[in-house]
Amino acid sequence: QHARFETVTLITPTARMAPSVHGGRAKCLQRLVRLGFNVPTTVALSFDAVHEIALGKAPPVAEILEPFGPAPLLCVRPSSQDQDWGGPSAILNIGMNDARHARLCESIGEEAANALYLRFIQSYAEHVARLDPDLFHLPDTPTAEAVAAMRALYEEEMEEPFPDTPEVQLAEVLRSMARAWKGTSARLLRQSKGAPADAGLGLVVQALALGVGPGESGSGVIAFVNSETGEPQITGRYLRQSQGREALSVSSGALYITRDARGKSLEEEAPEAFAELVAAGELSRIRLREEMQVEFTIDSGRVAILDAVRLPRGPRAAVKIAVELASDGIIARDEAVMRVPASALTALLHPQVDPGARRDVVARGIAASPGAATGRLVLTAQEAQEGEARGEPCILIRRETSPEDIRGMQAAEGIITIRGGMTSHAAVIGRGIGLPCVVGAGDLSIDRQGHVQAPGGRVLKPGDWVTIDGSTGEILAGEAKLIEAGMDDSFRTLLTWADQHRDIGVRANADTPGDAQVARRFEAEGIGLCRTEHMFFEDGRIGLMREVIFSETEEESKAVLSRLLPLQRGDFIRLFEIMQGQPVCIRLFDPPLHEFLPTDKRGLKDMAEGLGKPFADVQARVEALTEYNPMLGMRGVRLGIAVPQIYEMQARAIFEAAIEAGRAGEPVVPEIMIPLVSAAKEVEVVKGMVEAVAAAVRSETGATFDYRLGVMVETPRAALRAADIAAHASFLSFGTNDLTQMAYGLSRDDAGRFMGAYVRRGVYEEDPFHLLDVEGVGELLQIGAARGRATRPDITVAICGEHGGSPRAIEFCRGERFTYVSCSPYRVPVARLSAAQLAI
Ligand code: PEP
Ligand code: MG
Repeated sequence: QHARFETVTLITPTARMAPSVHGGRAKCLQRLVRLGFNVPTTVALSFDAVHEIALGKAPPVAEILEPFGPAPLLCVRPSSQDQDWGGPSAILNIGMNDARHARLCESIGEEAANALYLRFIQSYAEHVARLDPDLFHLPDTPTAEAVAAMRALYEEEMEEPFPDTPEVQLAEVLRSMARAWKGTSARLLRQSKGAPADAGLGLVVQALALGVGPGESGSGVIAFVNSETGEPQITGRYLRQSQGREALSVSSGALYITRDARGKSLEEEAPEAFAELVAAGELSRIRLREEMQVEFTIDSGRVAILDAVRLPRGPRAAVKIAVELASDGIIARDEAVMRVPASALTALLHPQVDPGARRDVVARGIAASPGAATGRLVLTAQEAQEGEARGEPCILIRRETSPEDIRGMQAAEGIITIRGGMTSHAAVIGRGIGLPCVVGAGDLSIDRQGHVQAPGGRVLKPGDWVTIDGSTGEILAGEAKLIEAGMDDSFRTLLTWADQHRDIGVRANADTPGDAQVARRFEAEGIGLCRTEHMFFEDGRIGLMREVIFSETEEESKAVLSRLLPLQRGDFIRLFEIMQGQPVCIRLFDPPLHEFLPTDKRGLKDMAEGLGKPFADVQARVEALTEYNPMLGMRGVRLGIAVPQIYEMQARAIFEAAIEAGRAGEPVVPEIMIPLVSAAKEVEVVKGMVEAVAAAVRSETGATFDYRLGVMVETPRAALRAADIAAHASFLSFGTNDLTQMAYGLSRDDAGRFMGAYVRRGVYEEDPFHLLDVEGVGELLQIGAARGRATRPDITVAICGEHGGSPRAIEFCRGERFTYVSCSPYRVPVARLSAAQLAI
């Protein structure tokens, strides 16, 4: 196939060129030539040609120079397949020597000619001869003496004459650029941007458009939309008597592109050239099917287009540009869906640190929940709530959070924890409620005075302003400038188009009415996991829950639970109402009871007082409830079987709420999910309990209702025994948080301590609580789904662990024909887009 392409190609409208052979820049230049733009003569070298040059073969200089005529002035630019993969710096003014300089003095004046000569020697010394760049300074006034001095310096350093012929200069430039591409740092850099290990480099050799000389001469860069918002807006810079992209790097002297109150503009100074550029922009947008950034020169009033690249853009602009191109019929809608990286949407849903803001990084942790937040540092949930009451934004820092901190977390703008990983309590809650969160910031410690000690002897005191960036894991000192989130029309439009291709459902994990509202707003197709225990931590309820725990008899606990019943029923009614007939999957109570108990003496005293019980009794009961390994202890279905009243109360609340919410509109069909199952018998027992409650509610109310009972597969045994479990379940939903914990034998709350070292040393590719381990945990999912389906072919199969929203998990679950994925409400848009991209 390669043989069909020349290794050295003059770019003409009909030359054979491909981005995978000559690189994206070469292909783009050819398109510009085809559009009839005034593009200087350009020759492209293929990846193969450059590769051979890097290996030592002499560059085919005679062939390259042929179309440029005698005594050419040239520039060479890199042309990698994807512009984001980078490449060596462009080198301009190749061909400059004393004779050429003398002729230039006549045509453009001595000073301008000196300036070009100096720039060439400087960049040749730095990039080709690899001399110390600090030695070669451009003087303020480009005199003939300065040129002679710089040449002499070069010759002294190199102990050889400065090369004078275009042939030698070009050969050396090509050789150095070809070699630079093979260097380790260039390779690592591009691989980090997704380039394959053997990515090729093409080079383009172009006749130099001077930009320096008499009349209106200069160079600049122009774009036609705002690179942050994507709104139409002509932007750029133009610098008289300059070359390349200098206009973008100078601190003063450049002209604005359009009229601007702050100073001169190209639009006013050279209206014809401006109009020509605007027309070029419109045409290239349509024909190149992309928003471009165009590099141009003006040479005595005549515009030349040197180069065009895809406009570098922020996430908001990425969405807007794709949608506008499709709306204008320039690209198809499915192409627009493919063009926006799913990760860009995450950035749009939360405030971000302004890219231009100063970042004073004090410490780093794991980026657990995206978005940025700024506020005053507080050390306790209580203080966060007080701050909220005063209208003062707070960032809550804890060693780790526990369910008791929920109210404070909701009150805070962001969370930092010193311990914990991607599925620690803080991380899960943070993602669930869309709260920026950095966990496992192990370099921080809180001292006895309540001061936060950071690396390098820095100290953050309560009340100090801090900013956290939950997208990078950084903790910054001070109040960094933030930019707001936007779910604008383009965003919604893009997702509507995405949904037309998606072939796997997307639900949200939502515990509260607030979560459910976010889920609706992001158009989730129901709730895939409602963790009911979170409802018990709300004000007033934790006290009732403690009364349940301290009940002496079953009657007593039932009496307390009957006071919790209307509260739970109210929770569910609100959820059903908000979700308007969409499925709502409610997980029965899961955590170990001790999570509802205080851990310190003072808390215990308060609790004893509240319960009206002797301190010693309370202390004894708390001790009795203590488990060595609570995550593997009496929680989930085990608690449901040992203390059946709790599940019975919850089932009743669900059914009564379904009847109530169904009165107003469509009947509600609740889904009830049993957590931490490891044996089919557990399901049978709970199913019996739930059926009995349903029968009782039906007979008491005379109402009819349906419900679905399913199992959360989050222990390895449940996956292995899915065939017998499926006999009693109408759906299986994989809880990959616990499943990952148990498959690896890795504590979700402690793994953060060594995860950094594990990932750095390549023991794990990534934190498996963050990125689904498709090899191991994935195999359990495959086994569970296959065995469940063998018993019950139409069984619903889903995932509801924290992995659910990630592109990797979606790809896996789609491949295994899962019915839906369920993820934090704020990840729903990302999941919808990724799922569509996989289907297109
Ligand atoms: C899980 O284990 O994957 C899950 C969703 O449940 P939780 O995180 O509440 O344990
Ligand atoms: Mg779980």
